[in-house]
Amino acid sequence: MDVSSFTATDLSRLALSVRLRDLSEAFRVAVAAEDSAVSSEDPDLAGRLWSLLATEIPSLQDAIVHHVRSSGGSWADIAALDGVSEDEARDRWKAVELTRTADPVAEAAALDDWYIRHAQLEPLAQVRDPFSRLLRAHAPRPHECLICVKYAEGALPAYGGYTTPPGGYLVDDGVWRVGHGPTPYWPAGTLLIESHRHFLDYADMNEAEAATIGPLIQRFAGPLKEAMGAPRIHFFSCMEGAEHFHVWLVPRTGDVPSGRSFIANPGYCSIPEAEAAIGRLREAMARAEANR
Ligand SMILES: [Zn+2]
Repeated sequence: MDVSSFTATDLSRLALSVRLRDLSEAFRVAVAAEDSAVSSEDPDLAGRLWSLLATEIPSLQDAIVHHVRSSGGSWADIAALDGVSEDEARDRWKAVELTRTADPVAEAAALDDWYIRHAQLEPLAQVRDPFSRLLRAHAPRPHECLICVKYAEGALPAYGGYTTPPGGYLVDDGVWRVGHGPTPYWPAGTLLIESHRHFLDYADMNEAEAATIGPLIQRFAGPLKEAMGAPRIHFFSCMEGAEHFHVWLVPRTGDVPSGRSFIANPGYCSIPEAEAAIGRLREAMARAEANR
Protein backbone atom coordinates (compact mmCIF):
# COMPACT_ATOMS: atom_id res chain seq x y z
CA MET A 1 0.00 0.00 0.00
CA ASP A 2 1.12 3.55 -0.60
CA VAL A 3 -0.47 6.72 0.70
CA SER A 4 -1.66 7.90 -2.73
CA SER A 5 -3.79 4.77 -3.16
CA PHE A 6 -5.96 5.54 -0.10
CA THR A 7 -9.49 6.59 -1.04
CA ALA A 8 -11.62 8.96 1.03
CA THR A 9 -13.52 5.89 2.27
CA ASP A 10 -10.25 4.25 3.30
CA LEU A 11 -9.18 7.32 5.25
CA SER A 12 -12.51 7.64 7.04
CA ARG A 13 -12.49 3.93 7.83
CA LEU A 14 -8.96 4.33 9.22
CA ALA A 15 -9.99 7.28 11.40
CA LEU A 16 -12.99 5.35 12.74
CA SER A 17 -10.93 2.22 13.49
CA VAL A 18 -8.20 4.19 15.28
CA ARG A 19 -10.84 5.72 17.57
CA LEU A 20 -12.45 2.31 18.20
CA ARG A 21 -9.06 0.73 18.99
CA ASP A 22 -8.07 3.51 21.40
CA LEU A 23 -11.40 3.34 23.20
CA SER A 24 -11.38 -0.42 23.34
CA GLU A 25 -7.81 -0.40 24.70
CA ALA A 26 -8.73 2.11 27.41
CA PHE A 27 -11.75 0.09 28.52
CA ARG A 28 -9.97 -3.27 28.24
CA VAL A 29 -7.24 -2.10 30.60
CA ALA A 30 -9.84 -0.64 32.98
CA VAL A 31 -11.69 -3.98 33.11
CA ALA A 32 -8.67 -5.70 34.63
CA ALA A 33 -7.45 -2.81 36.83
CA GLU A 34 -7.03 -4.03 40.38
CA ASP A 35 -8.86 -2.27 43.19
CA SER A 36 -5.50 -1.47 44.80
CA ALA A 37 -4.32 0.19 41.58
CA VAL A 38 -7.47 2.29 41.48
CA SER A 39 -6.99 3.49 45.06
CA SER A 40 -3.21 3.99 45.11
CA GLU A 41 -1.38 4.23 41.77
CA ASP A 42 -4.32 5.42 39.74
CA PRO A 43 -6.80 7.08 42.10
CA ASP A 44 -8.83 8.65 39.33
CA LEU A 45 -9.55 5.75 37.01
CA ALA A 46 -13.31 6.41 37.16
CA GLY A 47 -12.70 10.09 36.40
CA ARG A 48 -10.52 9.30 33.41
CA LEU A 49 -13.07 6.86 32.01
CA TRP A 50 -15.84 9.40 32.48
CA SER A 51 -13.96 12.15 30.61
CA LEU A 52 -13.04 9.65 27.91
CA LEU A 53 -16.75 9.12 27.29
CA ALA A 54 -17.39 12.87 27.25
CA THR A 55 -14.69 13.61 24.65
CA GLU A 56 -14.41 10.37 22.73
CA ILE A 57 -18.05 9.52 22.12
CA PRO A 58 -18.70 12.76 20.16
CA SER A 59 -15.45 12.13 18.21
CA LEU A 60 -16.58 8.59 17.52
CA GLN A 61 -19.91 9.92 16.23
CA ASP A 62 -18.01 12.31 13.94
CA ALA A 63 -15.94 9.41 12.63
CA ILE A 64 -19.04 7.28 12.01
CA VAL A 65 -20.72 10.13 10.11
CA HIS A 66 -17.61 10.57 7.97
CA HIS A 67 -17.44 6.89 7.21
CA VAL A 68 -21.12 6.63 6.27
CA ARG A 69 -20.89 9.76 4.08
CA SER A 70 -17.66 8.75 2.35
CA SER A 71 -19.14 5.31 1.62
CA GLY A 72 -22.02 6.94 -0.24
CA GLY A 73 -24.49 7.31 2.64
CA SER A 74 -26.95 10.21 2.51
CA TRP A 75 -27.89 12.85 5.09
CA ALA A 76 -31.13 10.87 5.47
CA ASP A 77 -29.05 7.86 6.55
CA ILE A 78 -27.27 10.04 9.15
CA ALA A 79 -30.58 11.50 10.30
CA ALA A 80 -31.93 7.98 10.83
CA LEU A 81 -28.97 7.18 13.08
CA ASP A 82 -29.60 10.16 15.33
CA GLY A 83 -33.41 10.17 15.18
CA VAL A 84 -33.48 13.76 13.83
CA SER A 85 -34.64 15.36 10.58
CA GLU A 86 -32.40 15.41 7.52
CA ASP A 87 -31.90 19.19 7.84
CA GLU A 88 -30.98 18.89 11.49
CA ALA A 89 -28.46 16.16 10.67
CA ARG A 90 -26.89 18.24 7.91
CA ASP A 91 -26.67 21.32 10.17
CA ARG A 92 -25.11 19.34 12.96
CA TRP A 93 -22.52 17.32 11.01
CA LYS A 94 -21.71 19.11 7.75
CA ALA A 95 -18.78 21.11 9.20
CA VAL A 96 -17.16 18.07 10.79
CA GLU A 97 -13.65 17.48 9.50
CA LEU A 98 -12.08 14.07 9.13
CA THR A 99 -9.36 13.45 11.73
CA ARG A 100 -6.36 12.69 9.55
CA THR A 101 -3.60 10.41 10.59
CA ALA A 102 -0.06 11.50 9.65
CA ASP A 103 0.96 8.15 8.19
CA PRO A 104 -2.04 6.09 6.97
CA VAL A 105 0.14 3.18 5.78
CA ALA A 106 1.82 2.81 9.18
CA GLU A 107 -1.51 3.26 10.98
CA ALA A 108 -3.17 0.54 8.88
CA ALA A 109 -0.28 -1.83 9.68
CA ALA A 110 -0.57 -0.93 13.39
CA LEU A 111 -4.31 -1.76 13.30
CA ASP A 112 -3.62 -5.15 11.68
CA ASP A 113 -1.03 -5.82 14.36
CA TRP A 114 -3.26 -4.70 17.24
CA TYR A 115 -6.21 -6.72 15.98
CA ILE A 116 -4.51 -10.06 15.58
CA ARG A 117 -2.56 -9.72 18.82
CA HIS A 118 -5.75 -9.16 20.79
CA ALA A 119 -8.20 -11.37 18.97
CA GLN A 120 -6.25 -14.57 18.53
CA LEU A 121 -9.28 -16.73 19.28
CA GLU A 122 -11.41 -15.26 16.50
CA PRO A 123 -11.49 -16.64 12.96
CA LEU A 124 -10.11 -13.35 11.61
CA ALA A 125 -6.89 -13.98 13.51
CA GLN A 126 -6.06 -16.54 10.82
CA VAL A 127 -5.80 -13.63 8.38
CA ARG A 128 -2.52 -11.73 8.57
CA ASP A 129 -4.00 -8.34 7.60
CA PRO A 130 -7.61 -8.31 8.88
CA PHE A 131 -7.89 -4.53 8.81
CA SER A 132 -5.90 -3.67 5.67
CA ARG A 133 -7.84 -6.09 3.50
CA LEU A 134 -10.99 -3.99 4.04
CA LEU A 135 -9.34 -0.97 2.41
CA ARG A 136 -9.67 -0.29 -1.29
CA ALA A 137 -5.95 0.64 -1.22
CA HIS A 138 -5.13 -2.90 -0.17
CA ALA A 139 -3.00 -5.16 -2.34
CA PRO A 140 -3.19 -8.86 -1.36
CA ARG A 141 -0.01 -10.21 0.18
CA PRO A 142 1.36 -13.66 -0.53
CA HIS A 143 0.95 -16.27 2.17
CA GLU A 144 3.64 -15.97 4.85
CA CYS A 145 4.93 -18.54 7.31
CA LEU A 146 3.98 -17.61 10.88
CA ILE A 147 7.40 -18.54 12.29
CA CYS A 148 9.35 -16.70 9.57
CA VAL A 149 7.05 -13.67 10.10
CA LYS A 150 7.79 -13.80 13.83
CA TYR A 151 11.55 -13.52 13.34
CA ALA A 152 11.04 -10.81 10.73
CA GLU A 153 9.27 -8.88 13.55
CA GLY A 154 5.90 -8.99 11.77
CA ALA A 155 2.39 -8.97 13.27
CA LEU A 156 1.79 -12.21 15.11
CA PRO A 157 -1.12 -13.77 17.00
CA ALA A 158 -0.38 -14.69 20.63
CA TYR A 159 -0.28 -18.42 19.81
CA GLY A 160 2.80 -17.79 17.63
CA GLY A 161 5.04 -17.30 20.66
CA TYR A 162 7.70 -14.71 21.40
CA THR A 163 10.81 -13.40 19.67
CA THR A 164 12.21 -13.14 23.21
CA PRO A 165 10.66 -15.99 25.21
CA PRO A 166 10.18 -15.79 29.01
CA GLY A 167 13.50 -16.68 30.64
CA GLY A 168 15.38 -16.21 27.34
CA TYR A 169 16.49 -18.78 24.78
CA LEU A 170 17.97 -22.03 26.09
CA VAL A 171 19.48 -22.66 22.66
CA ASP A 172 19.95 -20.34 19.69
CA ASP A 173 22.83 -21.84 17.74
CA GLY A 174 22.05 -20.94 14.15
CA VAL A 175 20.31 -24.29 13.53
CA TRP A 176 17.75 -24.45 16.38
CA ARG A 177 15.98 -22.10 18.72
CA VAL A 178 14.61 -23.44 22.02
CA GLY A 179 12.56 -21.29 24.39
CA HIS A 180 9.37 -21.28 26.46
CA GLY A 181 6.09 -21.63 24.55
CA PRO A 182 3.37 -18.95 24.50
CA THR A 183 1.94 -18.76 28.02
CA PRO A 184 -1.77 -18.26 27.13
CA TYR A 185 -1.78 -21.65 25.35
CA TRP A 186 0.69 -23.90 27.16
CA PRO A 187 1.49 -24.83 30.78
CA ALA A 188 4.65 -23.73 32.61
CA GLY A 189 7.77 -25.50 31.38
CA THR A 190 6.50 -26.06 27.81
CA LEU A 191 9.41 -25.74 25.39
CA LEU A 192 9.15 -24.78 21.73
CA ILE A 193 11.92 -26.04 19.45
CA GLU A 194 12.04 -24.26 16.08
CA SER A 195 14.42 -24.68 13.15
CA HIS A 196 16.21 -21.52 12.01
CA ARG A 197 15.74 -22.64 8.42
CA HIS A 198 12.28 -22.73 6.83
CA PHE A 199 11.30 -26.32 6.00
CA LEU A 200 8.28 -28.48 6.77
CA ASP A 201 9.25 -31.66 8.55
CA TYR A 202 11.76 -34.45 9.16
CA ALA A 203 11.68 -35.39 5.46
CA ASP A 204 13.20 -32.04 4.51
CA MET A 205 16.01 -31.87 7.08
CA ASN A 206 19.57 -31.34 5.93
CA GLU A 207 22.39 -33.42 7.37
CA ALA A 208 23.20 -31.01 10.21
CA GLU A 209 19.54 -30.75 11.27
CA ALA A 210 18.97 -34.52 11.12
CA ALA A 211 22.14 -35.15 13.14
CA THR A 212 21.32 -32.66 15.92
CA ILE A 213 17.53 -32.85 16.51
CA GLY A 214 17.70 -36.16 18.46
CA PRO A 215 20.53 -35.10 20.81
CA LEU A 216 18.84 -31.69 21.22
CA ILE A 217 15.57 -33.24 22.43
CA GLN A 218 17.49 -35.68 24.61
CA ARG A 219 19.32 -32.81 26.34
CA PHE A 220 16.00 -31.36 27.52
CA ALA A 221 13.86 -34.43 28.22
CA GLY A 222 15.41 -35.52 31.54
CA PRO A 223 16.03 -32.07 33.06
CA LEU A 224 12.51 -30.92 32.04
CA LYS A 225 10.92 -33.85 33.91
CA GLU A 226 13.07 -33.05 36.95
CA ALA A 227 12.49 -29.29 36.87
CA MET A 228 8.70 -29.59 36.53
CA GLY A 229 8.18 -32.75 38.61
CA ALA A 230 6.49 -34.19 35.52
CA PRO A 231 6.06 -37.95 35.14
CA ARG A 232 5.71 -37.50 31.37
CA ILE A 233 6.87 -35.09 28.68
CA HIS A 234 4.55 -34.97 25.67
CA PHE A 235 6.31 -34.37 22.33
CA PHE A 236 3.87 -32.72 19.96
CA SER A 237 4.53 -31.69 16.38
CA CYS A 238 2.02 -31.40 13.55
CA MET A 239 3.11 -28.25 11.55
CA GLU A 240 -0.55 -27.27 11.09
CA GLY A 241 -0.28 -23.80 12.69
CA ALA A 242 2.91 -23.00 10.74
CA GLU A 243 4.39 -25.00 7.89
CA HIS A 244 7.83 -24.57 9.47
CA PHE A 245 9.49 -27.30 11.52
CA HIS A 246 8.77 -27.04 15.26
CA VAL A 247 8.28 -29.40 18.20
CA TRP A 248 6.50 -28.76 21.50
CA LEU A 249 7.87 -30.42 24.65
CA VAL A 250 4.98 -30.29 27.10
CA PRO A 251 5.47 -31.41 30.71
CA ARG A 252 2.38 -33.22 32.03
CA THR A 253 2.16 -32.81 35.78
CA GLY A 254 -1.44 -33.40 36.92
CA ASP A 255 -3.60 -36.53 36.71
CA VAL A 256 -5.14 -36.79 33.26
CA PRO A 257 -7.34 -39.57 31.83
CA SER A 258 -5.29 -39.96 28.65
CA GLY A 259 -2.46 -38.41 26.69
CA ARG A 260 -4.69 -37.22 23.88
CA SER A 261 -7.07 -35.32 26.13
CA PHE A 262 -4.11 -33.65 27.87
CA ILE A 263 -2.50 -32.39 24.67
CA ALA A 264 -5.88 -31.14 23.40
CA ASN A 265 -6.26 -28.96 26.49
CA PRO A 266 -2.89 -28.69 28.21
CA GLY A 267 -3.62 -25.54 30.24
CA TYR A 268 -1.74 -22.25 30.43
CA CYS A 269 0.52 -20.23 32.72
CA SER A 270 1.64 -16.70 33.55
CA ILE A 271 4.88 -15.10 32.31
CA PRO A 272 6.44 -15.21 35.84
CA GLU A 273 5.54 -18.92 36.11
CA ALA A 274 7.20 -19.55 32.75
CA GLU A 275 10.31 -17.60 33.80
CA ALA A 276 10.54 -19.57 37.04
CA ALA A 277 10.19 -22.86 35.14
CA ILE A 278 13.00 -21.89 32.76
CA GLY A 279 15.16 -20.95 35.78
CA ARG A 280 14.59 -24.40 37.34
CA LEU A 281 15.25 -26.07 33.99
CA ARG A 282 18.58 -24.24 33.58
CA GLU A 283 19.61 -25.51 37.05
CA ALA A 284 18.53 -29.09 36.24
CA MET A 285 20.45 -28.94 32.94
CA ALA A 286 23.59 -27.70 34.72
CA ARG A 287 23.31 -30.61 37.18
CA ALA A 288 22.86 -33.10 34.32
CA GLU A 289 25.89 -31.57 32.57
CA ALA A 290 28.01 -31.84 35.74
CA ASN A 291 27.08 -35.51 36.25
CA ARG A 292 27.93 -36.49 32.69
ZN1 LIG B 1 9.05 -20.41 8.00
